Amino acid sequence: MKKLLRDLSALSALRDRQAMDFALVKLVGLGDLWRCHTVRLLRAVGPPDDQHWVTLGQLDAQHSTPTRDAFWFDASTLPPLSEFPMRVAAVVTESVMRSGQGPYTTVFPIDTQASVCSVLELESDAPISADTEDLIDSVLHMFESLQGLLDYGERDSLTELLNRKTFDNAFLRAAQTQDESANGLVHDRRDKQTPGSYWLAVIDIDHFKHVNDKFGHLIGDEVLLLLARQMRTNFRFLDQLYRFGGEEFVVLMRCADQEHALAALERFRRQIEEHAFPQVGHITVSTGFSELRDNDTPSGAFDRADQAVYYAKGHGRNQVCSFSALVASGELTEQVGNDANEVDFF
Ligand code: GH3
Ligand code: MG
Ligand code: MG
Repeated sequence: MKKLLRDLSALSALRDRQAMDFALVKLVGLGDLWRCHTVRLLRAVGPPDDQHWVTLGQLDAQHSTPTRDAFWFDASTLPPLSEFPMRVAAVVTESVMRSGQGPYTTVFPIDTQASVCSVLELESDAPISADTEDLIDSVLHMFESLQGLLDYGERDSLTELLNRKTFDNAFLRAAQTQDESANGLVHDRRDKQTPGSYWLAVIDIDHFKHVNDKFGHLIGDEVLLLLARQMRTNFRFLDQLYRFGGEEFVVLMRCADQEHALAALERFRRQIEEHAFPQVGHITVSTGFSELRDNDTPSGAFDRADQAVYYAKGHGRNQVCSFSALVASGELTEQVGNDANEVDFF
């Protein structure tokens, strides 16, 4: 019990989601009070009609450190929701599910956010006792509260997208992961897939001032909220979506190459163009994007993507512009010197 309390207090000190996911599976998997040979923290991801299970943390008897699915895979390569009816039942009924025969499987639902379905799955040689189930349930309640606190600090209150404050850390972590995989330091069970590189996109609503002027701020806010929802359905679960303030949004995503990044952003541009927003009708967005570079800085990468947005605004709006393509075609020039991110417009 003392160890459990110590582990819980260590868990509550964490401010990093991946570390928290790993701490949870370790706490349950290596607990003195119960013995399970595999513990998995799973989340349902993807569009509502095509969801798949992603493993956020897994610990098994052979390993003392948890593993997780890689950040850059395509969700459609993961197991579909329907392949694991016990997990689905745990989420739908909001109660613990148990399989009757050894090895025993026990699935606990986790309630973090209304739109997110997560479960903790335990495999054990003996059934989990009712007391142990209660204890794990309490641990999960604490985990849920901690996640809620993290959300509160990290998310924009209107759209629930990540806020600007959290961007620098996420960016630096992405840049580091990119360097490590470029140098062959990351080995993953999905390493057959192309890891690609990180891309940063800035998305700005066109003529949003008109929306506010014509329909009022409240309707304007609703458009921002609905656009954020569209972002969640268009981009992949592990793409990081931010509201940077006002009507400006940022996506940090891992893609195999420029074509894939462009395709995802172009799909979103079209989705918005075609969507009828209540009262307001149709709006459009201008997008600029750039690949993360070696030794990149958050402001350097943001500036490059923003230059491409600026170009899009000056050339008809409602389009996706690649910074490097604009430089390659001579539409922008990049200054090479002390400030590598300065550009000139023609
Ligand atoms: P452009 O196509 O050049 O981007 O034009 P724009 O009107 O979208 O851009 P501009 O920067 O001139 O105006 C942005 C407007 O966004 C100004 C402000 O009225 C509105 N805005 C900023 N933050 C919020 C917000 O939180 N809620 C609402 N409703 N409006 C906001
Ligand atoms: Mg705008
Ligand atoms: Mg703007």
